[in-house]
Amino acid sequence: MLKQAYAIRTRDRGRFLQLLDRLHRPGLVMTPEDRWRLRYLDGWEGSFTGDYASAEPLLRDVADHASDIDLRSLAAGTLLNILAISHHYLEAFERADRLAADIPRIRDRKVAYMALSQLSQLMASAGQSGPAATYARQMVQYAEPGQSMCRPYVYLFGAKVADDTLPPTDPIFRQAIDACTAAGEPMFADTVELDLARRLAETGDARAALALLKRIAPTVNAQGFQAHVYVLRSTYGYAYWKNGDAAVARRWAQSALAMDPKGNFEGLSENVYKVLYEVAHQAGNDRTALDYYRRYRDVKARSVSDTQAMALAYHTAQQQLSAHRLQVESLSRKNGMLELQQALDRKQIQASRLQLLLLVSVLVSVGIWLVRTKRSQQRFRKLARRDGLTGILNHPHFISESEAALRYAEKSSRSACLALIDLDHFKQINDSYGHATGDAAIVRTVALCRDHLRSIDIFGRLGGEEFGLLLPDCTLDEGVAILNRIRLALADLTLDERHPDLAISASFGIASTATCGYRLAELMARADAALYQAKRAGRNRVESVAEGG
Ligand code: GH3
Ligand code: MG
Ligand code: MG
Repeated sequence: MLKQAYAIRTRDRGRFLQLLDRLHRPGLVMTPEDRWRLRYLDGWEGSFTGDYASAEPLLRDVADHASDIDLRSLAAGTLLNILAISHHYLEAFERADRLAADIPRIRDRKVAYMALSQLSQLMASAGQSGPAATYARQMVQYAEPGQSMCRPYVYLFGAKVADDTLPPTDPIFRQAIDACTAAGEPMFADTVELDLARRLAETGDARAALALLKRIAPTVNAQGFQAHVYVLRSTYGYAYWKNGDAAVARRWAQSALAMDPKGNFEGLSENVYKVLYEVAHQAGNDRTALDYYRRYRDVKARSVSDTQAMALAYHTAQQQLSAHRLQVESLSRKNGMLELQQALDRKQIQASRLQLLLLVSVLVSVGIWLVRTKRSQQRFRKLARRDGLTGILNHPHFISESEAALRYAEKSSRSACLALIDLDHFKQINDSYGHATGDAAIVRTVALCRDHLRSIDIFGRLGGEEFGLLLPDCTLDEGVAILNRIRLALADLTLDERHPDLAISASFGIASTATCGYRLAELMARADAALYQAKRAGRNRVESVAEGG
């Protein structure tokens, strides 16, 4: 039953769930190894249905404790996907390192092949194209005789496009498309062809891009895979725009947006907003252009900061591993020193004490080095989350913490507010008093805001002199009152004894979940509009989103 359930887990869900149910009936006698297998299937099921909270501990347990290395590797591979999705990059990379070391000892080639594909995907999504490509190439070695090369080529392609300068003439495009078409995997072929069209348009060959899109459109639409249909439309828009056909470009971009009212494909929408913004800009529609430009910037910033967080975690994990190796080395050196000391005691050779002293000093310096790396690691990890100047959350972490808080608020049906703060006429402060005074003003403003915030409030620097504030458990009226207290305190602040005339003020925009819902992007857009309102109405004021809009 276990073997059968494993074999059909992706092909026949109904049967798989039945088997799983039977395997859990009381009274079934199982060996300890079989219990681990069942535990793996439970974890796999959780990862499949998106119930990561229950899947993670199960898979971790199997990955760390099952006695069979193949089973351990299966669990570790599935766990890698979940860890990356839930942004636990550090653990993901530590486990990736261990999994990679285990691969030569895995007995079942299919398991090794799968582990390599998971490793390659993790590295590609972290922008580590070198390791991603290495794992993809190793997949070729572990493929069964006669097995299609579609997957290895697609992953190799994934590794190569992580580097955005890949020319459309690179042979990997053709290799992957041909292998996947031959293997009857049209979805994979489509992924690569759509990307090829994008690269062609980007590198100036819009006509070739359009010809390619027209050729693949029937298959993409027939497959009905929504993400592909979305990318097809967005790439059409982009290619038409590059071809100088603004009106058609706009229609395609809007048809992409129209199929995604919930914003599920926001991560794929960079070119959609780019086209809409450029077209509006060309037509002199500045307000619309600005609106689309903001969305374009947000989508882009999000993808960049995500890749950066991944890359940072990758390097932190690498650094920790090398520090660990060094520690092991220094322990064995300490052992060596004890043996040496015994030898010395036995022979009582006075002169060799000098040598011992030398060894001790080497050990001490290694120890100091270790402490230093430990400290720099801690700083490093904190840095990844905090803004360098003010010590509050940086942009990506403000976003992720706020999203978590909003999810919680939605679950417990509590209202929350999102506020945006932008200092007024800050360019003038920089121009009149210098950049250092400007920086000091930012630091003082942050300290003052913190005095007025509760410990559950989430406060982050979104860039420059713009800040975001998420206030859980807070009505719009309460939020406006908090902001006004901050605003008045700011006006009272003496920044610098030497410049008594230097005053700062800020403008505030606030939106509540009660009228705007729990989606962060929506709240940000509304609060941003309110902030714009506050600036236009003369600055140094709080504006909130009017009822219903
Ligand atoms: P407004 O009232 O319309 O907001 O006017 P503003 O001058 O503040 O305009 P805006 O918000 O567009 O520009 C912010 C300026 O803040 C731009 C830049 O010169 C300055 N700035 C951004 N980041 C920093 C920083 O880290 N330190 C200092 N000293 N200045 C910064
Ligand atoms: Mg400003
Ligand atoms: Mg600003």
